[in-house]
Amino acid sequence: MSKTFSCRELGGVCDETFSGNTFDQIMQNGARHMMADDAHKASIMDMEKRTGENKEQWMARMQREFDARAENE
Ligand SMILES: [Zn+2]
Repeated sequence: MSKTFSCRELGGVCDETFSGNTFDQIMQNGARHMMADDAHKASIMDMEKRTGENKEQWMARMQREFDARAENE
């Protein structure tokens, strides 16, 4: 039932992956990783500038990507 997103897809800078049954779960699984070093933190902070989306818009888009993604085997 779970789906997987990469760190990079979530606005991070590496290829680590996070899985969950909901996008919220993926965000929770990724949160500690994202806060673990400055490169990730800086990337997250810079995301609004890069994407032109505010957090709500980004979350809505990622939720749609989550819905569209195939489930893991
Ligand atoms: Zn990462």
